[in-house]
Amino acid sequence: MSNNATLLLTNAIVLTMDAALTQYEPGAVAVQGDSIAAVGLEADLRAQFPAAQVIDCGGKVLMPGLVNAHGHAAMALLRGLADDLRLDVWLLGYMMPVEREFVSPEFVHLGTQLACAEMIRSGTTCFADMYYFEDSVARATVEAGLRGVLGQSVLKFPAPDAASFEESLEAARAFLQTWKGHPLIVPSVAPHAPYTCTPEILRACADLAAEFDVPLQIHLAETAQEVSNCRVENGAPVIAYVERHGILDVKLVAAHCVHVDEGEIGLLLSHNAGVAHNPSSNLKLASGVAPVRDMLKAGINVGIGTDGAASNNDLDMFEEMRLAALVAKNASNDPTVLPAAQAVAMATRLGARALHMEQLIGSLEPGKRADLILVDLARTHNAPRFRREPEGIYAQLVYAGHAHDVTDVMVNGQWVMHDGQLLTLDEAALLTRAEDYARRIDQFLIAREHSVLSKLIAIGGAREGESFEVQAKARLADPVAVLAALCWPDIEILYERHYREFDTYFSWADPDQGQLRYREDEFLDADGGVSNVRYRLTLLGPAREGRFESDVVLSRSRFLAPATHSLRFYREYFRPARERFIQKDRRRWRVLFRGTEFYLNLDRVEQPDLGYFIEAKSRTWSRRDAEHKAELARELIACLGAAPADAVAEDYVEIAGS
Ligand SMILES: [Zn+2]
Repeated sequence: MSNNATLLLTNAIVLTMDAALTQYEPGAVAVQGDSIAAVGLEADLRAQFPAAQVIDCGGKVLMPGLVNAHGHAAMALLRGLADDLRLDVWLLGYMMPVEREFVSPEFVHLGTQLACAEMIRSGTTCFADMYYFEDSVARATVEAGLRGVLGQSVLKFPAPDAASFEESLEAARAFLQTWKGHPLIVPSVAPHAPYTCTPEILRACADLAAEFDVPLQIHLAETAQEVSNCRVENGAPVIAYVERHGILDVKLVAAHCVHVDEGEIGLLLSHNAGVAHNPSSNLKLASGVAPVRDMLKAGINVGIGTDGAASNNDLDMFEEMRLAALVAKNASNDPTVLPAAQAVAMATRLGARALHMEQLIGSLEPGKRADLILVDLARTHNAPRFRREPEGIYAQLVYAGHAHDVTDVMVNGQWVMHDGQLLTLDEAALLTRAEDYARRIDQFLIAREHSVLSKLIAIGGAREGESFEVQAKARLADPVAVLAALCWPDIEILYERHYREFDTYFSWADPDQGQLRYREDEFLDADGGVSNVRYRLTLLGPAREGRFESDVVLSRSRFLAPATHSLRFYREYFRPARERFIQKDRRRWRVLFRGTEFYLNLDRVEQPDLGYFIEAKSRTWSRRDAEHKAELARELIACLGAAPADAVAEDYVEIAGS
């Protein structure tokens, strides 16, 4: 029997969070070096370790440190940057552009330190992380004295720390080699999500995790959209799909798992996968409710995570425990589901198991690392205390306890907070530097938000098109005359198309911003069936040359971008002041008229119901040529038996003129 314990923590309500939820009161914990030597009643441990240095815990709760099973620590620097948005607008419109501009090793180091300060204050001793420049995350974590399961991100797009997936995979390998075996850091590999990775990336990441025997972290089945896309593209739901690529064969930590069915729960269980449940993030992004009750009932190790501070917006595991319990009750219509003791277990022992760390942490048991916290429950918001039922203490922690009830935090046998004072981090200096970043990011976004064009460029793919175009347009009473006139010998038809166009025009209070057109083209075959669909986004600058009279437009600058997102995405991202919709059936010919090629568009404008229009269009490179062509275009229209557009059609000409 050992009697050289370095520390004896006495006079505590000891919640061991072991499998039997053993409690000791008045209890004690003996800490030797980095590990727990013994846990028991105070009188027994005092007798067992007579020479120990005694620390009186003042009747507080002594429990394992909380395990945050999913997050992105450095994003603490982006807290409050953009909120109340849908996931795609938030991620593609704000997070990724700002990350491309600002994320560096210095940013990541500072952001992680800020997160560590917050996590220590709220009783977290171990956290899982997926981000860029993970080496900087690891260094900041070690300096703060926290424990981390840290994953270097890998994805198919260029990232702030890698130009290609091969580069990020190499970075992941180097990261594993550097940190494997560190007393505080468990390095891991983190393919971002199935929809941001190719099957080859998933396979390569699984191979890497297997080679180094480390956890693999990934976001899985977070939204219903992700699952339905996966079914369409891969013929399987998300968990079944990633199983094909080896993701379940390693120490998997699957974040979210909101939309998983019974079969997938079975798959996760049979592969001993850990799941990180993120109630705040799922609620705030309206992602849905994870089937936590079913996963726990099946026997899956479900931990609790905060997700990044840019989406949560804090790293408070007390709040997450409370929400995990409340959400599960509400979703199942059953208040007995997920009782408080189980919520605390998810934030400790089950969380450690989910991270494949149960040998080291998650409960106060001899041989495990000394990661522990003291929580002061004798405060007004948490008084009085009933002792009749042993479970009562968990309800106090989960339903009434606050993160700031945590007074002392020890990780790996070292105090990192004592009596509310951080011992490893200079909080004031961190806040000053974080404010400086916020100022710079604000300036960047203010400059960008000022211009529709720069917002378009920020989401990628915009290129400037030709800027000189002739258009002549006329309203038609009867399109049959035009069809007949097309047989004229003066007009040679080069080809013909038929499609249906759905145009949405966004405009803003400042006319200099131009108009943004989202166009959906349905190509129609000879039978009127849809043979193909095309989406295009065009930013139309104000006309540079002005208009000739009422029926001819000399064109303007235009920027084209592939419309890879939904109309809803663009609406929420660009926030137009005005929106107009035009639907038309368009027959288009490419014709040769007196040596000049024109496009002839015969439009039936169905919405608003404006009738038929004929339009002649041609591109050109000089003003002189433009004037010549404008004249020819008018003649062409006249040959087709049409008069120039009248005033009634002005609105249509104005917005659909290009
Ligand atoms: Zn996440």
